[in-house]
Amino acid sequence: MSGLKFQRKAITVQEAQQAVLGWVRHQEAEEVPLAECFGRRLAVPVSAEQPVPHFRRSGVDGYAICALDSASVSPDQTVTLEVVEHIYSGDVPKRCVQPGQAARIMTGAVVPEGADSVIMLEMTESWEQQVRIRKKMTAGDNITPIGQEVTSGELLLHEGQWIGAGETAILAAFGYSSVPVYRKPRVAIFSTGSELLDVNKPLEPGKIRNSNSYMLACQVQEAGGEAIIMPIMPDDPGSLERELLTAFEEVDLVLTTGGVSVGDKDVLVDVFEQWEGRLLFNKVAMRPGSPTSVGVWRDKLLFALSGNPGACFVGFELFVRPYMRALMRSSQVMHQEVQAYLMSDYSKGSAFPRYVRGTLVMKNGMIGAEPAGKDKSSIMVSIKDADCLIHIPAGGRGAAAGEIVTVMLLRKN
Ligand code: AMP
Ligand code: MG
Repeated sequence: MSGLKFQRKAITVQEAQQAVLGWVRHQEAEEVPLAECFGRRLAVPVSAEQPVPHFRRSGVDGYAICALDSASVSPDQTVTLEVVEHIYSGDVPKRCVQPGQAARIMTGAVVPEGADSVIMLEMTESWEQQVRIRKKMTAGDNITPIGQEVTSGELLLHEGQWIGAGETAILAAFGYSSVPVYRKPRVAIFSTGSELLDVNKPLEPGKIRNSNSYMLACQVQEAGGEAIIMPIMPDDPGSLERELLTAFEEVDLVLTTGGVSVGDKDVLVDVFEQWEGRLLFNKVAMRPGSPTSVGVWRDKLLFALSGNPGACFVGFELFVRPYMRALMRSSQVMHQEVQAYLMSDYSKGSAFPRYVRGTLVMKNGMIGAEPAGKDKSSIMVSIKDADCLIHIPAGGRGAAAGEIVTVMLLRKN
């Protein structure tokens, strides 16, 4: 009888997360063309090399003038100025605007020396080289000063920051045609179980198609990793161990699903018993997925997730995603949590805290959390609806509708 199967000491989710995070080795950096950086994490901080804007910029189409020239403008008095230049976007003004003068200017163009305001075109009338001003201006009107948006040297993006649309705009504006990002963690995914069929196979009695490998591959990619789906492994510890150890030579971490509980053919349990790697834990005080186990081969982690699809999904979210974030120096490794009203009774008690798949909704200006109706760990079809995990504390009674619960947001990045 296997020792590891039955003598398991449950640790808390937080202890398990800390144990995993103790094995973080940061990914090395690589340069990637800017247009391919979406979803990557920065390997350097980015500071402003120059201010934005880096010249005094006109905010409107109109005339650059000296505000004092408009001091006498009133409903029954206008002022006429001499137009000395036309400045288009991208031009550099050639002349300094003197009192009594104006320069025609376009939005985004450089405001000429001497001018301290830009009057909107709609407030003027022009003919030949003259322009009539119909509004009293104040110095600074419609001019964006140097550095208003960003001052020189300002820290704009931190190391480990996830690159989305706004981050990409900053990188482009500061001339990063290629960007130092962390190399994507390579993640091998093994499904174990002699009942599993490849997705292209017709169903047979007693067999099911492998869905976990493909689900995990999506989670890995969302988390910024490269997913490598390995062949399905039968319930044979010897060949599984060989395949795992070979995979470790090529990848940064390995995920398995299935074979972690106390069945006769729970191969991961046997692998952990016989291999030369170490075991960090093999039981976590949580539902679903209490047999979730993590081992270390050399300095790389093996996440042995449950075979039950719901538990496999939750196990990835609780342990693998934070670890992958940490590999790429995310500053927010853990999921964010919010307090929400439980929208319906969850009356299943449990000796362990539960992480119930659910959906967040706004109701009467408050956040509600609706548990997925079908949330057993074996159930796969409700995973697609989960945008959060509702934390139901351990205890005999579960939680009642209207109670405040802590909810973990399933943020992708
Ligand atoms: P196990 O932990 O290996 O006993 O698996 C628990 C349950 O999950 C069993 O009903 C398995 O058939 C199912 N299962 C295991 N691996 C997968 C997989 N890759 N895809 C879908 N279901 C799976
Ligand atoms: Mg199995």
